[in-house]
Amino acid sequence: AGGQYRLFHRADLIDLLHWAARRAGVRVLLLQKVREVVPGPEPLVRLASGAELCADLVVGADGLHSVLRQALNGDEEPFFTGQVAWRAVIDNPTERRDDVTLHMAPHRHLVTYPLRQGRQLNIVAVQERAAWVGEDWRQQDDPEALRAAFADFAPDVRALLDRIETVHLWGLFRHRIAPVWHREGVALLGDALHPTLPFLAQGANMALEDGWVLAEALGRAEAIEPGLAEYRARREARVARVVRAASGNARKYHLAFPPLRWAARTGLRMAGRVAPGMMLRSFDWLYGVDVTEGSAARSRK
Ligand SMILES: Cc1cc2nc3c(=O)[nH]c(=O)nc-3n(C[C@H](O)[C@H](O)[C@H](O)COP(=O)(O)OP(=O)(O)OC[C@H]3O[C@@H](n4cnc5c(N)ncnc54)[C@H](O)[C@@H]3O)c2cc1C
Repeated sequence: AGGQYRLFHRADLIDLLHWAARRAGVRVLLLQKVREVVPGPEPLVRLASGAELCADLVVGADGLHSVLRQALNGDEEPFFTGQVAWRAVIDNPTERRDDVTLHMAPHRHLVTYPLRQGRQLNIVAVQERAAWVGEDWRQQDDPEALRAAFADFAPDVRALLDRIETVHLWGLFRHRIAPVWHREGVALLGDALHPTLPFLAQGANMALEDGWVLAEALGRAEAIEPGLAEYRARREARVARVVRAASGNARKYHLAFPPLRWAARTGLRMAGRVAPGMMLRSFDWLYGVDVTEGSAARSRK
C-alpha cells in the first residue's frame, strides 16, 4: 500500500477478519473439524462430530492439509525442499517500528520485522538441511538449535536470537497448484489451492485476494458455476507467477558460491544506486496489483 508493507500479527489479522465476518452477519462455529466435503448440487460438509451441513457453495480455505483439496485432487506427495524455517516472536528490544530486515549467508537467511506498533519482533530464520522436518505449525524446537545454526551471524542478530524462549520449526515443502480448483458447489482458495514457499511473503495475501475475487465473481455471475470459472480465470496466472517467484527467491537468498553471492548482492546494490526505485519497479507486477481496485471504480459509478 503506497510502497509500504503492512505488518500484521497473524492473530490480529484473524481477529479483524472474524470481527468483519460477524458484522456482515456470518455465523461462526468454532472447534469444528471437517471430516469430509461432498461436492454436488447441494454440497455437503460432514463434521467429525457427526453433524452434516448443507450450503449453496462450500469454500475450502482449510490450508495445506485441506480436506477439500484432497477430495477434488486426490492424494499428493509434496516435495521436501531441503529447507526448514524457525519462527519466533520476541519483545522488540530495538527502536525499529516498521522496517523489514533480511540477513543472508550461504545456505541460510533470516528476516525480522516489527509487529503490534513495534512492541514485538517477528523472526523467521531459514536453513538448508538434508534432515526432513514435518510441515506443521505446532512443532517446537530447542532455541539453542536455532542459535547454533546462526552463530556466525552479526552480533546484533545473535543478540536477538539470545532472547528467544519459544521457537517453532517448520519444514518447507513444494506442492503443485491444485489442478482442480472447483467442482459442482465447491471451490478452493488460499494455501489449500496454491501453497507457496514463504520467500515472497505472499501466502496470506494471496488467500485474501482469492477471497475478494471469488466473492466479486460470484456476486456478478448469474449462477455459481460461471462465477467459479471467472474466479479461476482471474486468479490463475497471478498465483502461478507468485508461487514461481517465491521458489526462485529460495535459490537467490542462499547462493553459496562466492562470485554468485557477490553478483546477487552487487546486483541489488547497483539497482538501488543507478536507478533508485528500479528494484521496487521490478516488483510492480506483484505490488502494483490491487484486486479491489476495479470494485471501487464500479461502486463509485
Ligand atoms: C514460516 C512462514 C512464514 C510466512 N510468512 C508469511 C508472510 O510474511 N506473509 C504472508 O502473506 N504469508 C506468509 N506465510 C504464508 C501464510 O501463513 C499462509 O499462506 C496463509 O496462512 C494461508 O492462509 P489460508 O487461510 O489459506 O490457510 P491457513 O492459514 O493454514 O488456515 C487454514 C485454517 O483451516 C483450518 N482447518 C484445516 N483443516 C481443517 C478441518 N479439517 N476442519 C476444520 N478446520 C480446518 C486450520 O485450523 C486453519 O485455521 C508464511 C508461512 C510460513 C510457513
